[in-house]
Amino acid sequence: MLITAVYPGTFDPITYGHSDIAQRAANMFDHVIFAVADSPHTNKRPVFTLAERVALAQTVFHPYDNIKVKSFSGLLINFAKKNKARIIIRGLRAVSDFEYEFQLAGMNRSLMPDIETVFLPTSPQYTYLSSTLAKEVARLGGNVQPFVHPCVYAALLAKMQANRQ
Ligand code: ADP
Repeated sequence: MLITAVYPGTFDPITYGHSDIAQRAANMFDHVIFAVADSPHTNKRPVFTLAERVALAQTVFHPYDNIKVKSFSGLLINFAKKNKARIIIRGLRAVSDFEYEFQLAGMNRSLMPDIETVFLPTSPQYTYLSSTLAKEVARLGGNVQPFVHPCVYAALLAKMQANRQ
């Protein structure tokens, strides 16, 4: 039986930390759905629109046959069910990620008992990387090229310039 895994997140925007996790998941499972959340929890106000976040991820994963980018809104478990996914992928950077991720996995499990969350530890070079920091460094004029795909780099520069006007 083919196994589909969902890797959900806000991905505002996608970084090499995210793509590394997705590619490693794609080596473990038959299909990976990179699921871009439309309406994340309220304290995250995305800088990039849903369409922009999806388009950037599509460019990044273009070379990967078994990674599909989709958007979703509402409960992740409903999206997972609709796509016949039994695995949720989450990335773990540091101890600070752990508590929230552990709660989320527990909640998802109680909502849908036959779904499993699989945590993948970040690759060491991306331990300190987050979308928030990439945006902040780009805003302050720092070089974020080592942390994001060239299409994301260009989009970040354009977005920062537009926000300055
Ligand atoms: P969310 O709104 O769900 O927190 P994010 O886009 O911030 O969405 O992150 C999606 C997932 O990717 C989370 O599981 C997060 O821990 C993981 N992640 C984010 N940055 C990295 C990174 N640098 N390395 C590994 N995993 C990461």
